[in-house]
Amino acid sequence: MDNASLRQLLKGAQQDQAERKRRRATLYFISYVGGTIMAFMAWLNVGTDNPLLVGMLAGSAAFVYANVMLSHIFPRADIFYYIAGLVVMFTINGLIYTGGLNNTGLYFIFPLLFVQIVVVQFKPALAYVAITVGIAIFMLYNQNHILAVYPDEHVSRFLIATFCFICVAFIGENFWHQSRREMLRENFERMRQANTDPLTKLPNRRFLEAVFFEKAMQDPAAYFPLSAVVVDIDYFKKINDTYGHDIGDEVLIHFASLMKETVRATDVVARTGGEEFLVLFPHASLSQAVKLAEKMRKAIEANPFVEGDINHPITASFGVATALTDTSLHACLKQADDNLYKAKNGGRNRVVE
Ligand code: GH3
Ligand code: MG
Ligand code: MG
Repeated sequence: MDNASLRQLLKGAQQDQAERKRRRATLYFISYVGGTIMAFMAWLNVGTDNPLLVGMLAGSAAFVYANVMLSHIFPRADIFYYIAGLVVMFTINGLIYTGGLNNTGLYFIFPLLFVQIVVVQFKPALAYVAITVGIAIFMLYNQNHILAVYPDEHVSRFLIATFCFICVAFIGENFWHQSRREMLRENFERMRQANTDPLTKLPNRRFLEAVFFEKAMQDPAAYFPLSAVVVDIDYFKKINDTYGHDIGDEVLIHFASLMKETVRATDVVARTGGEEFLVLFPHASLSQAVKLAEKMRKAIEANPFVEGDINHPITASFGVATALTDTSLHACLKQADDNLYKAKNGGRNRVVE
């Protein structure tokens, strides 16, 4: 497994729902409350001499409800948030244009602007807010084109307050996103350390159990048949005893990189113990896994550890087994272990299936 795939798997295992939940709650709140208010106002205006207003309000309410319903059905799609942001933009400018009840529409602009910022997220929100406020300024300084009437001092106070509000809202948003990013980065670094072996930089047993097998269980079709190869270096203790522990460590690094070189990016080579490794081949039959194990065995045999005066041949023993479905994973790992034991007893430097 290359570093990019490892990072991706670890990122996938990270729990990061806070921002999504915040946007979703804001979308639901504004859609249900806003939609209901629009529907109620449409109902209040039924029978008055303004059928166009009734139609527009009822149509907008239906549109807002449809948008939020679709976001329930497709919870991962972002488009409904951007549509909601546009609806908020029209509502804000509609309020400014008509003035609402007795020209009191401006009061509602502040919460609506904040909804817009949260729902469409930081960068697009800059554009949304700029366009919304640009249209608002145009209308407020060209009141002969709009229905509402706002005294000059209201306009200037409103715009100053809006400017301050937007600055504070974006400062708040910026720090929320920044602190979340820092937290996620630290969290990721801790996760990376917990899931990799510091010596060989290979994923460790914890990674297999908490991340890889979890992922395989969630999406069995993408992983099974899954073949497992348990690998153990032969007579490793002798290397330590002959050259010392530090050279033993270097042999482990040499061995790990040899194994990594012989597998594909989607295969996993993990260090599961001192000089014991587990290689996992997703979507590989037993016979394919045996061939791959044999390839590894030969690569190791052909590449002795060389450093200074030391030229030490390395061999390893391999136990192979295959899990056809997720239910047999545990038994497969046990079988691979048993096969390694047989490989050791059979004389080492061999693959047993
Ligand atoms: P076999 O062929 O039966 O596997 O023999 P072996 O000597 O490889 O196996 P044994 O289990 O007797 O010894 C494994 C040795 O690996 C013992 C331990 O000191 C050493 N070891 C475990 N972890 C490390 C490590 O991180 N670095 C070094 N240098 N040695 C380690
Ligand atoms: Mg050994
Ligand atoms: Mg061992």
